[in-house]
Amino acid sequence: MPTGKGIAKRMERLDASGIRRVFDLAASLADPISLAIGQPDFDVPEPAKAEAIAAIRRGDNKYTVTQGTAELRAAVAAACAEEFGWEDQRPFLITCGVSGALMLAFLVLVDPGDEVILLDPYFVMYEHLTNLTGGVVVTVDTYPSFDPEPAKIESAITERTRMLVINSPCNPSGRVYSADELKAIAEVAARHELLVVSDEIYDLFCYDQPFASIASFYDNTLLMRGFSKSYAMTGWRMGWCTGPAEIIEKMTMLQQYSFVCAPSMAQAAGVVALKCDMSAQREAYRRKRDMVYEALREPFGLIKPGGAFYAFVPAPEGVTATQFVERAIANNVLIIPGKVFSRRDTHFRVSYATSDEKLARGLEILVRLAR
Ligand code: PLP
Repeated sequence: MPTGKGIAKRMERLDASGIRRVFDLAASLADPISLAIGQPDFDVPEPAKAEAIAAIRRGDNKYTVTQGTAELRAAVAAACAEEFGWEDQRPFLITCGVSGALMLAFLVLVDPGDEVILLDPYFVMYEHLTNLTGGVVVTVDTYPSFDPEPAKIESAITERTRMLVINSPCNPSGRVYSADELKAIAEVAARHELLVVSDEIYDLFCYDQPFASIASFYDNTLLMRGFSKSYAMTGWRMGWCTGPAEIIEKMTMLQQYSFVCAPSMAQAAGVVALKCDMSAQREAYRRKRDMVYEALREPFGLIKPGGAFYAFVPAPEGVTATQFVERAIANNVLIIPGKVFSRRDTHFRVSYATSDEKLARGLEILVRLAR
């Protein structure tokens, strides 16, 4: 029988009102131009699809070991050895997307009252997971350039700080941190023996400079990457994580009692995906980024985003971003108000992960509204 207790208290700390309002407004549109979507518009590479199908046919349909198949972990380790020069036996955990890795990491690391530093604007899940685990979000404002300023980060650190979360290329700003910027963050973190969680899910989508990871400079990094964006496998739920052995060990234990394992056929396909050349897709998205920048730089004062597939655009003077988004939706273009990712309501997020034709039509309407 029900106890009458209802929903657990921790759920009161979650709030989805910002994004719900957008969906409510959008529900009235018959055929909206959506510049709101956080997933690639290309499909999974053919060899990876074929391998997933073959894996199902040959019976790879059972639980795998919790940490992920030996083949996929070896493939990820080999890719890391090439990128970082790591020769040690690091632990790797295959997760159900980067979301799965984040969920495990927050549960393993954050106690009630612990502070989690986020660079504002930030990917929404970090805020919700902090709240869910009883932590306290401490934001470092990075507007208007979205530069990760080391002095500001350092001044946000207190005795209760548990970790700093960084995300480059960034959702929603599209900002990419240079190697020098990451080194400066690493120096601050090292001075305070601070764990850095580095969400590198958009590592493929880096347009103007080589991608750099803080894991190259700083060992106390919990590094997370995914297959969702690079290989368009959003529905296959695949990611991976590496970092300090003790943390990975606890995350693995918790995965055993929660997700159990990432999908077996997706793990088989992941081995193949890692060998696929995605440079054509990156080039296509670079071109779309250029389209967005060319259209929005002057009427909106957009700073050129260097990566991911988002632009974070200042709303025109005199209106809040929420008001501008409502106006855009009334004109059939779906965008996301920056408030969803931020303490501020000054910007809106445009996703250019869509066809050139839809993107051009959407941009034209946004430019008209700005004028
Ligand atoms: N991290 C960032 C910055 C994201 O934008 C997303 C998805 O939008 C995720 C993590 C979650 O990705 P997944 O769980 O599909 O790997």
